[in-house]
Amino acid sequence: MKIMVSACLLGQNCKYNGGNNYSEKVVRYVKGHEVIPVCPEVAGGLPIPRIPCEIVDGVVTNKEGESKDREFRRGARRCLNKALEEKVDMAILQSRSPSCGVKQIYDGTFSGKRVEGRGVFADLLIENGVKVVDVENLDDEGNYGYATIFEG
Ligand code: SF4
Repeated sequence: MKIMVSACLLGQNCKYNGGNNYSEKVVRYVKGHEVIPVCPEVAGGLPIPRIPCEIVDGVVTNKEGESKDREFRRGARRCLNKALEEKVDMAILQSRSPSCGVKQIYDGTFSGKRVEGRGVFADLLIENGVKVVDVENLDDEGNYGYATIFEG
């Protein structure tokens, strides 16, 4: 299989704070498959580190109130194009990110409150028919429930 993965899950230090979300279970799951790491925020031209963003009334906005919507959507589009060109079989994405979140995101108040929703990249992948799994729904044995796979 060809599997697109949020790069931070593989240990790349591309998070807003310069860190990563290394996940042993993801590394184990993708072993032996072709892996395509992507960070849509970096692909959109944003620096590391960067001011954290949330989706505020549909617009990706940083904590200082500046819109970063253009950069986020540009990065999401670039990574979607890669997924389509490479014909990936699935994508495993980091939870709750305003780009990569599959099931939940933060509510736009920068208070840590979660709401149901998707990040802009996850949304674009799903709209374009790519199977997407939230890393939280991948268990240690490499299973993911049917309900966690979204097909566009
Ligand atoms: S945009 Fe996605 S890949 Fe990049 S740091 Fe955020 S969660 Fe990880």
